[in-house]
Amino acid sequence: MTSLASDTPAPDTLAPGTLAPGDAGTPPAARHLIDGTWTGEPTTERRNPARPAELAALSPSGTVEDADAAVTAAARAQPAWAALPAPSRGAVLLRAASLLDIRSLDIASDLVREEGKTFAEATGEVKRAADVLRFFGSLGWAPSGDVLPSATPGTTITTRREPLGVFALITPWNFPLAIPAWKAAPALVSGNAVVLKPAELTPLSATHLARALHDAGVPAGVFNVVHGKGRVVGEALARDERIAGLSFTGSTAVGLHLKGILDARRARVQLEMGGKNAVLVLDDADPGAAAAVVAAGAFGLTGQACTATSRVYVTPGVRDAFVEALVLEARAYTPGDGLDGARMGAVVSEAQLAQDAAAVRGAVERGATLLAGTHDVDASQGLLFPPAVLTQMSPDDPAATDEIFGPVVAVLDVPDYEAGLAAVNSSRYGLTAGICTDSLALATDFAARAQAGVVKINRPTSGLDLNVPFGGVKDSSTNTFREQGRAAVEFYTWGKTVYLGV
Ligand code: NAD
Repeated sequence: MTSLASDTPAPDTLAPGTLAPGDAGTPPAARHLIDGTWTGEPTTERRNPARPAELAALSPSGTVEDADAAVTAAARAQPAWAALPAPSRGAVLLRAASLLDIRSLDIASDLVREEGKTFAEATGEVKRAADVLRFFGSLGWAPSGDVLPSATPGTTITTRREPLGVFALITPWNFPLAIPAWKAAPALVSGNAVVLKPAELTPLSATHLARALHDAGVPAGVFNVVHGKGRVVGEALARDERIAGLSFTGSTAVGLHLKGILDARRARVQLEMGGKNAVLVLDDADPGAAAAVVAAGAFGLTGQACTATSRVYVTPGVRDAFVEALVLEARAYTPGDGLDGARMGAVVSEAQLAQDAAAVRGAVERGATLLAGTHDVDASQGLLFPPAVLTQMSPDDPAATDEIFGPVVAVLDVPDYEAGLAAVNSSRYGLTAGICTDSLALATDFAARAQAGVVKINRPTSGLDLNVPFGGVKDSSTNTFREQGRAAVEFYTWGKTVYLGV
């Protein structure tokens, strides 16, 4: 078995654990990183969703004791890390970014095999993670407060941000490298220590991040990873009173459960959860361009993005031309093995595949028309689900209201802009919302009145820049602290105001 872990910094060698499928008959193995040591017997198997016969990864199943050891290490290591000059903390992130760049092709291959996305999506994700580390690493040199005038003579006021201590990060499988990176980087550059609990389905990606940070020289205990089940390791982290805050991305049900635990002891908590993101297509939009925008948002990343488009409201003048173009787009997204150049990757798990198929089957049984795709899939040759386009359904149909997390889009007719805006805002979720229109006036009105944390005008609902705030409203997010960009630092720090009399 090849281990991803290494105790010897090897910045210019390729990561071990990058065996070709079937090579030597053993998959890469993830390990916990606790107090600077790679540990845990990798016994949990993960199969390649595009090739179910192929073992993609092995990982350890962490215990409550592993979580406790990681928090103990983090609490011990954090004060010395916080005492380092911020540029020195940032330098570790910058070195780790370079290591991700060097190892990009191998990390991307592991990512495709364990998660199922396309190779282009995976290499893009590795680059994103490296860029995120660079962005936050460079913040080590940035101002971290203001100098303000005082009404009292001889007094200067400054503001500063202080780290909180130890953060738990609990992350999902759909961006298994980028999400841990965009949570860990602002935490670390601000002087906190971190314990990451990655998703069970994608242990290799998180281990690659840990290995890059470890090899870049992060001190023992400052960045820890504990693999395993959410209700064991994740729950233990959330309940540990030494954890100053928790940043969680995942399902709404789990997020709200964890919030209850953190709120009870008034610890800081940030949740990014589900979505049911809508696009409004207006008569003045080019139908082909609108269909390409919707397809990219709905079928890119196999629809497995929290920001994916899954509802479309369309006005009568463009409706038929738009639907025709969308069906053509859908048929061009052929699912397959991401390492074989497929346009669309595999579905992450049998459970998710069953959820996708059930959503489409249910809608059809309730009277919807299925214009592209199927609900009758054979998973024996790979978890492949062709994009589905549903029309002629009630706005209250579950396929139009409930998160599916797959490449399924419900197209609903609306009479005009106002009705479309009301339909967009009718969801319990509010992560991203889009509009396709040539009207600057309506686009501006939509940007102001759409109930979503991110608004996209003539652009897919998925796809985010790393230097700007990200988060949602309603059941999509805690809607307090934002992730990404400079705003992310606020969650991981507290503000202090200092009066200096000289
Ligand atoms: P999930 O909630 O099942 O799991 C997310 C993480 O929480 C995993 O690491 C899991 O092990 C852990 N977990 C599960 N139960 C736990 C418990 N009782 N205590 C502590 N931790 C626990 O979600 P998932 O299936 O991995 O991801 C899909 C979901 O994530 C979708 O609902 C999607 O919308 C959401 N998501 C949201 C965003 C966003 O930014 N808003 C991004 C990606 C995914």
